[in-house]
Amino acid sequence: MAGQGQLSGKTAIVTGASRPNGIGAAIAVALAEQGANIIVHYASSEQGAKDVVKTLQSMGVKAAAIQADAGSADFGTKLVQDTLDAFQTSTIDIIVNNAGINIPSTGIADVELSAWDAVFHSNVRAPFLLIQAALPYLTKPGGRVVNIGSNIAKMGHQMLTVYSASKGALNTMTVSMAQELGPMGITINVVAPGPIATDMAMKGSPVYDKLFGIMHIKREGTTREVASAVSWLASPDAGFVTGQLIPVDGGAGWP
Ligand code: NAP
Repeated sequence: MAGQGQLSGKTAIVTGASRPNGIGAAIAVALAEQGANIIVHYASSEQGAKDVVKTLQSMGVKAAAIQADAGSADFGTKLVQDTLDAFQTSTIDIIVNNAGINIPSTGIADVELSAWDAVFHSNVRAPFLLIQAALPYLTKPGGRVVNIGSNIAKMGHQMLTVYSASKGALNTMTVSMAQELGPMGITINVVAPGPIATDMAMKGSPVYDKLFGIMHIKREGTTREVASAVSWLASPDAGFVTGQLIPVDGGAGWP
């Protein structure tokens, strides 16, 4: 039963947890199963966020929905201050940078600067800003950061240059931050999903065909399978694991 697990009483922020069929909502549920109180961050899906909050509260933990746009310069400071206010707490234990966007498959010549900026703001700058703003409040030792990457960063894919570059940047940011955060007792890792059945999934696209060809397990993953890896990395059991990339991608490798 929630409230009694390894994360009992801890405060977790999960960004982009506002779509009931999304990876973020599954992560929120998995952390709540371990007893964590959850901030359900959203950008535009207010009703979805409220629905996820209800689900979490019915599990016996505290939950609140907080809005913040990843494109805003105050993304991190707003989300952190609203979290401290919502739970009347002075500490944050777990951050999961899950919110992310892709743009429709586009060749190099057709990439708009505004699309480049939107993807990098959501997938790289916002995670940085949130960690930066949360750092004074992150539990030391014991704090946990999990960034949601993508296995596309490992392989690359034409027409997905911007998205794959942003996830590659997130990976390198994670490795660099691990060196600075480690001595404080804070771990930071990446979970890198392969194709997962959510709104973002591109089922039927050439990317999917190619991915399915090189995956050992030839199916889409589930949001739960991603969430389980995040839940473990957020737990005390994973306290000696940092700066790592955990693929949850059916064993996809280079073609
Ligand atoms: P999704 O269903 O499309 O949900 C994306 C989430 O990001 C939503 O909660 C959305 O919030 C939030 N978001 C979008 N734009 C935002 C903005 N400007 N500011 C703040 N939040 C914003 O995505 P998903 O498939 O669950 O993906 C979650 C993560 O997994 C992403 O980082 C994605 O890159 C990664 N991933 C997914 C797959 C896959 O196959 N699905 C594969 C590899 C990696 P609102 O709805 O409230 O706007």
